[in-house]
Amino acid sequence: MMHYQAGSGDSMSDSSLPADKHELRTDFLGRSVVLAPSRSARPHDFEPHVPAKKSDAASCYFCPRNEHTTPPEIERVGLDGAFRAPPARGSPQTSEWRARVFPNAYPAFSKTFSKAYGVHEVVVETPDHSKTLSQLDEAGFSRWLGLLARRLRAHEKDRKLKYTVIFKNEWAAAGASLEHTHTQLVGMGLVPATIKREQKLCKSSCPFCLLSVDDKFLKIIEDGPFLAMAPYAPRFNHEVWVVPRAHTASLVDLDETAITALGRTVRSILRAQDACLNYPAYNLIFHVAPLREKNFHFHIEICPRIGQWAGFEMGFDMQMNSVRPEETATLYKDWLRANP
Ligand SMILES: [Zn+2]
Ligand SMILES: [Zn+2]
Ligand SMILES: [Zn+2]
Repeated sequence: MMHYQAGSGDSMSDSSLPADKHELRTDFLGRSVVLAPSRSARPHDFEPHVPAKKSDAASCYFCPRNEHTTPPEIERVGLDGAFRAPPARGSPQTSEWRARVFPNAYPAFSKTFSKAYGVHEVVVETPDHSKTLSQLDEAGFSRWLGLLARRLRAHEKDRKLKYTVIFKNEWAAAGASLEHTHTQLVGMGLVPATIKREQKLCKSSCPFCLLSVDDKFLKIIEDGPFLAMAPYAPRFNHEVWVVPRAHTASLVDLDETAITALGRTVRSILRAQDACLNYPAYNLIFHVAPLREKNFHFHIEICPRIGQWAGFEMGFDMQMNSVRPEETATLYKDWLRANP
């Protein structure tokens, strides 16, 4: 009878089955994952480097001096860090900005679409084509989150909009079609089912409020108003959640100090992730309250896209992952201790 050659450290039993390290977990959201640790999923041991971008600044729609190639600007952060209304229609858009918001040139939703009413906006967080989000300083993170909160406040004024989806696809493997780092906001007349489910949970005793004392959710950062944790049943290898300690509905409920604190926590996790996993493609997803609603506990999911979802994941809303959250928590905590 043939036996597979076990890798160093992983002993195979005589029955050719891997050691009994696999574990099926289901969390309070009903998400199930089978953790099937394998050595191949270990992060690499080389110095991380930012992958080279294929496009250059001259041909990039999102770079300074190409402002005329995007739809007319909605808002910007000037060089002095102040939020600015767009220039009057017809007058040129200057290149003096630190962050910029404009409508998506290929919108999924628009106020002119009778059957898909909504808005689809792009936030460009930095004029620097070569930078990743994790390379922005703390002020850059405050500008980014501040702009998102301002857009949500603007969307709240339109009663036909019920929800604004906010997400970031970093690198092509996470779905980014343009390499210049950016975030998208999609406002629509529907509350996504995922959010409705979480809203229902928040109505009784909010499970997100209990996360700070739930040892199954492994804390990576817990010294401020925002916790960063490796979730109990991660949908992706090295997934991290950022959750406010207090029951807080959305970004619109944060003052400037809280925005800065949230930015600091998200920045730490992205720095650790990019250093430990060598700038992986990832999705960063905001689960915030429906527009104008106040009973919700917002949270951010940061999901590296190292493996690919296949039939098991696509068809059954269950995941197979090879990295235990314990590994992620230790990896990131150690890195953050060495690189504060
Ligand atoms: Zn660019
Ligand atoms: Zn809560
Ligand atoms: Zn959620």
